[in-house]
Amino acid sequence: MPRSESRPRSRAAREKALSALAERVAQCTRCQELAETRTQTVFGVGNPQAQVMFVGEAPGADEDKQGEPFVGRAGQLLNKIIEACGWKREDIYICNILRCRPPGNRNPSPKEAANCREYLDGQISTVDPDYIVCWGTIAAQNLLDTTETIGKLRGRFMEYGRAKVLCTYHPSYLLRNPSAKKPVWEDMQLLLKEMGLEPPPQK
Ligand code: URA
Repeated sequence: MPRSESRPRSRAAREKALSALAERVAQCTRCQELAETRTQTVFGVGNPQAQVMFVGEAPGADEDKQGEPFVGRAGQLLNKIIEACGWKREDIYICNILRCRPPGNRNPSPKEAANCREYLDGQISTVDPDYIVCWGTIAAQNLLDTTETIGKLRGRFMEYGRAKVLCTYHPSYLLRNPSAKKPVWEDMQLLLKEMGLEPPPQK
């Protein structure tokens, strides 16, 4: 994936900044319940110079165990979507609204999202992506500070800082509602078009 040339910071400088932030996150106890129940924090993964950043909701059980976002069933579907776009998982930077698993996979509370916002914003400003994809209602509503439904938010670009933001349905929702794969693919095509890219022939 070609990077725009307007972002001067080196890969090494970004990696260093992200590692320092990840170390702070690993010590974080801002959300007492999450800090007490997590196996580990789940910071983020991928290309520190990614042109596209994915933001999900929060780690689930698999992510909490492995310390990496989107490695469970939803993650496997996300990997398929990434592949269908002609990318590799390592091309993207992937993180979540929360860096700890909410017990029982409940929704993040507004307070938890607010506590974790500094870390998300740190990742966004360090990676400085041209595009952010918000996967699902929680990611979209929190990042954009809106109560609009995902059905209303999807299908168009919004802005966050200098990034163009596209919201779409969460892969977990697609696992429960396969008919939502069509609008998600439309959203991905919109993103590719905006980036001047073509999806590869689908298998
Ligand atoms: N769902 C998310 O939103 N994020 C993950 O990391 C895993 C599942």
